[in-house]
Formats: sequence, C-alpha cells, structure tokens
Amino acid sequence: MNGWLCIAGLGPGDANLVTPEVTLALEAATDVVGYIPYVARIAPRAGLTLHPSDNRVEMDRARAALAMAAAGRRVVVVSSGDPGVFAMASAVFEALEGMPTWQQLDIRVLPGITAMLAAAASAGAPLGHDFCAINLSDNLKPASLIEARVRAAAGADFAMAFYNPRSASRPDTFGRILAVLREACGPGRLITFARAVSTPQEQIHTVTLAEATPEMADMRTVVLVGNAATRRVGRFVYTPRSAA
Ligand code: SAH
Repeated sequence: MNGWLCIAGLGPGDANLVTPEVTLALEAATDVVGYIPYVARIAPRAGLTLHPSDNRVEMDRARAALAMAAAGRRVVVVSSGDPGVFAMASAVFEALEGMPTWQQLDIRVLPGITAMLAAAASAGAPLGHDFCAINLSDNLKPASLIEARVRAAAGADFAMAFYNPRSASRPDTFGRILAVLREACGPGRLITFARAVSTPQEQIHTVTLAEATPEMADMRTVVLVGNAATRRVGRFVYTPRSAA
C-alpha cells in the first residue's frame, strides 16, 4: 500500500517546458487524472490508466484521485501551467478537509510554468516590476468582486495578468473589464494578448488600451496589462525594474 498523489503542472504546452520532476512522476504513475485536454497531453503506455473528466467536476476529480491513492495507486493529477494557479492543487486540499485518513497520504505539488510567465517571456518582460494575477471567470466568484479587484490593482499601478479572459458563456465580461481599464489606466497603456503560448499556434499582439477589443481574447489567451512605465523597445515590451 505505497500509494501517493502528485498534483503536477504540465506547463503552457511545449513538451520542453514540462519539468524533469513532472516527467519522473508521470513515468512512475499508475493513474493520471484531469480535465480532458490536459490528460490528452499524456502519452498512453502499458500499466497507466488515464482518467479524463469534464471541466466543472474538480471536487469529484480530487476525491476520486485521493481515494485511488488511499487504495495504493500512484496517482498524478494534471493541470496546465502550474497546478496552484487557478487549477487543481486547491481542489485537492479542499477535498482533504475533514478527511484525517487522507491527510496522512504522501501528497506533493509539483510546480509548472504558468501561462503568464511563458507569455511574459515571449513578449519581453512586461511583468518585470510588481504585478498581480486575476482570474476573470465568474464560475467561482461574483463579477462585482472581479471588477473591484481590477480597479484596485489598476489604482495601485500593478501590472496585471488576466486568466480565462473570455468565454462563450460570458461574452460581455471582458468588454466591461477593458472599459474599466481604459478609465483607470488611460488609453495609452500597453496590453498584450498572448494566445496559445508555447504551441505552434502561438500569437502575441501588443496594442494600446484604446486599440484593444474584446475579440482579441479567447479562452486560450492570457492577457497582460502593463503598469504606467511599461514600454516598447524594438519588438519587445518591458516594464522597468524601478518605479516610475
Ligand atoms: N493552471 C494554468 C491556468 C488554468 S486557467 C496555468 O498556470 O497556466 C486557464 C487559462 O490559462 C486560460 O483561459 C488562459 O487564460 C491561460 N492559459 C493556459 N495555457 C495558456 C497558453 N498556452 N497560452 C495562453 N494562455 C494560456
């Protein structure tokens, strides 16, 4: 009964951006659990069972993974990017609450390269000074809280990274956020749309807030907004390390 559970980040897409630590865990695993497109990134092999599941069942998935580890399986729960950034690590710890037996299990979180850092690297260094990350999905929090946080971050002159900027189920939210940003940061502020970073479909576009439209983002895009000092140099965008 030497079961264990790893919650692993697969990075933004490129196989070269999967850490050696995650690769070793996947090689030792008996079971891989996760959202369908992330499990699809794992090569099938003898002795490995893949358990793809739908997006909205995170707690069920976390409990199923813990139950398998408790039964002696070697389980990797996969997320894209980093598992602690708007992903499965928190769901697993939430499932541990009130479960003292499961709390004794061998559980480890294996970090990965999160989308905003891969995107920032492709663009230059737009997150080179203080920054924050905000999930624009309203699945797990009210839209009013999202807007309040965007206003607070803009007011404190943080650079910002927005995850889940736009989906078919809430096509208007991102337009509203762009309006808030234009009001709080002014029309000249630089905004970078980074789509499918580190995949063959990668596209990086930097424009001003005045030029930005909601259609520039989709669910495969992470959006980076600079601070007041963020500027272009040649084909790059960077934020100086000293305050403006
Ligand atoms: N745990 C993941 C984030 C999951 S939320 C991480 O650390 O990256 C899903 C959101 O992440 C997407 O809507 C998009 O905003 C962003 N994202 C994930 N992979 C991406 C990629 N390769 N390129 C651009 N954005 C990406």
